[in-house]
Amino acid sequence: MNLREKNMAAFKNIKSQLRIIPEYMELMFPFAHSAHIRRHRAKIIASRVGLLSLLFSVVIPIWIIVDFFAFSWPTWAILAMLRTVSAIVFFGLYLMHQNCRSLNHAYLLLGGMMAVPPVFYLISQPFLVGLETNALGTAVTSAYALLPFIVVAGLSVFPLTALEVFITGVAVMVVVILGAAQQPHFDLQEFINSTWLMIVVLGVSIFSGMSQLHYMISLINQASKDLLTGAFTRRSGEEYLDLQYRIASRTGAPMSILFMDVDKFKSVNDEFGHEQGDMVLKQVARGLQDCLRRSDQLIRWGGEEFVILLPNTDVDHIVPVLDRLGELTLGKRPDGRPVTVSIGASELTTDRCEDWVEMIEKADHRMYEAKKSGRNKSIGPRPALNRENVIAT
Ligand code: GH3
Ligand code: MG
Ligand code: MG
Repeated sequence: MNLREKNMAAFKNIKSQLRIIPEYMELMFPFAHSAHIRRHRAKIIASRVGLLSLLFSVVIPIWIIVDFFAFSWPTWAILAMLRTVSAIVFFGLYLMHQNCRSLNHAYLLLGGMMAVPPVFYLISQPFLVGLETNALGTAVTSAYALLPFIVVAGLSVFPLTALEVFITGVAVMVVVILGAAQQPHFDLQEFINSTWLMIVVLGVSIFSGMSQLHYMISLINQASKDLLTGAFTRRSGEEYLDLQYRIASRTGAPMSILFMDVDKFKSVNDEFGHEQGDMVLKQVARGLQDCLRRSDQLIRWGGEEFVILLPNTDVDHIVPVLDRLGELTLGKRPDGRPVTVSIGASELTTDRCEDWVEMIEKADHRMYEAKKSGRNKSIGPRPALNRENVIAT
């Protein structure tokens, strides 16, 4: 191994170690999520809000019976009115969850559901503080004081990032402070106790929300990634293409595709066996992955065919991707010769494509042209993308 190869190996090693960081970032902040994960998360959050809202809209009015025996007139009637309004809001949320289209919509549903108990708490507190009640009434009053904690604990059933749970928790804490301010005699010790309890509940909810999210992301990745190469499967790749195409045509953003096929791959299988062929495919996928940005997607389109989806990338910005491909290499065949690929590129607006299927067809056709004219070449919609010897040999 010469010095350059050693440096490259060290660089690759550091790069693969650093790959773990974005995974943690995904659990901490919502901004790092791909459109695919956002969509799945929106669906899961909305369906859980729907289920819980339906449950609450039934259970909450039933509790009026307990209030009736716990409190005297007019307290139980005021609480019954508050309960009826809450149940209507919950039922409304249940109806709305079916039409959830985006993550922002799911946030609204979740925020709406989470806001009901603290608002109930704030409105009911003045009626309950200092009230002379029976034993049942005292028990129910202290249960009402726990509502904000229940909300924060409830966040743990959602696949949320640390930041999202933290923000919601702080909002609820503000409600607790406002509730404490309504008390006729401010009890500092009790205030410290409840703040401390809230911090503990919030901490547990943050970790629980993150582990729900982690579980969700790994399930999505498992279902959408090819076992051998770690690239996206064709099925999930088509979903991404469709999604990105719709985003690009709505926003007018550019979008490019590289269609590539490993050159003379059958001879690796024939001469060295299928297992060696699999090793070569793994190396190719790793090499391709290394020259992509986080927002780009590598899709295993077929046996030794890969598609790279480059969102927000116009024709000029395909050039650096080809440069990086040449620099990083795609590994070696068992006989020591470098693995090469033939590439066809297409861009949404430059090629005036009607849909992503047409983009793939154009790129596939150009890849075929690159094969016919000698392999290890790239052909694109502009001469700047037509290259000989894309991978250094
Ligand atoms: P060309 O340069 O024209 O693309 O030549 P080629 O030999 O790569 O083309 P061809 O399409 O004839 O060969 C593709 C081969 O890829 C055939 C198939 O057996 C092999 N293949 C497809 N999937 C896999 C896989 O998962 N593992 C292995 N080892 N081989 C695979
Ligand atoms: Mg092929
Ligand atoms: Mg091939």
